[in-house]
Amino acid sequence: MLDILIIGGGPIGIACGLEAQKAGLSFLIVEKGCLVNSLYNYPSTMTFFSTSEKLEIGGVPFVTISNKPTRSEALEYYRRVATSNDMPINLFEEVTTVKKDGDVFTITTAKTSYQARKVILSTGFYDIPVKLNIPGEELPKVKHYYKDPHYYAMQKVVVVGSSNSAIDVALETYRKGADVTLVIRGDEVSHRVKYWVRPDIINRIKEGSIKAYFNSHLKAVREQDVDIDTPDGLVTIENDFVMAMTGYQPNFSFLKRLGIILSDDKYIPQYHPDTMETNLQGLYLAGVVCGGLDTHLWFIENSRVHAEMIIEDILGGD
Ligand SMILES: Cc1cc2nc3c(=O)[nH]c(=O)nc-3n(C[C@H](O)[C@H](O)[C@H](O)COP(=O)(O)OP(=O)(O)OC[C@H]3O[C@@H](n4cnc5c(N)ncnc54)[C@H](O)[C@@H]3O)c2cc1C
Repeated sequence: MLDILIIGGGPIGIACGLEAQKAGLSFLIVEKGCLVNSLYNYPSTMTFFSTSEKLEIGGVPFVTISNKPTRSEALEYYRRVATSNDMPINLFEEVTTVKKDGDVFTITTAKTSYQARKVILSTGFYDIPVKLNIPGEELPKVKHYYKDPHYYAMQKVVVVGSSNSAIDVALETYRKGADVTLVIRGDEVSHRVKYWVRPDIINRIKEGSIKAYFNSHLKAVREQDVDIDTPDGLVTIENDFVMAMTGYQPNFSFLKRLGIILSDDKYIPQYHPDTMETNLQGLYLAGVVCGGLDTHLWFIENSRVHAEMIIEDILGGD
């Protein structure tokens, strides 16, 4: 019988583990992929918008040469934090169900089951892409994740979206020799794009090196071309790859299966803002999973504090 079982070994799951460890509680983190699986799956060229001290957990210093860490530095940091603190983490083990009987939770995974008095759910939002729901989306040329620009050299690439991810993909693939067309549903590049990147994309569009259709939607994808619904009518262009950078969402069906109430509009899970406890007593939420469809609300910077809040509540209740 564990005091706490933590579902998800991302930065915030590890932060919860560190706080539980400091408090002398028994715990286990169960992670369905590798350690900090979401970060591992980010683009290999990715740089965080946060400065390194804002990504620190458990008070462990995150030292980087430039102020904004890269993905590789973040992997080094969280791995070092986990290993040097002997975090009990079971990797490559997916949690499938959580059932509560009296005061005890039974957590079933693809490999076995565990019992715990409390459960912290820190499952993030990076596993499920927001779909375009258009004909041809199932073709292998349509990608919802992006790793590296070289793959797209000398290819005709359509990038859908105007978020940081979309703009990074557009600029990086353009600079490695792709012929890039952006399809943006609004009338300008999002103001959430990193302030040092936004002028770059605006100028590339202005000079015509990257084409952009504003107030437009991708309508259909075929092997050789795509249809774009634009204010001037339907445009068909030749195409090799579609990068659908339209965001990600938490696993809502998993949350519902566990009995967590979600709001009607944005699927925001119900939790007490002071304790992070959900409508199910003893089941807590931590990290970016808390935002529902508003995935930009929470990030490491402002959600790492959930770890202390939860452990404080657990200690207070015992
Ligand atoms: C491209 C990008 C750039 C970002 N840049 C920044 C930044 O600069 N600063 C910042 O503060 N934030 C940033 N964020 C947001 C934040 O870094 C991430 O969302 C961060 O990973 C959140 O940590 P988390 O622990 O809450 O969730 P995650 O890191 O997503 O961890 C959740 C973990 O749960 C696991 N999991 C899911 N379901 C199960 C299951 N059923 N059983 C077991 N394990 C499961 C997943 O595999 C995953 O490892 C960025 C996000 C993205 C996508």
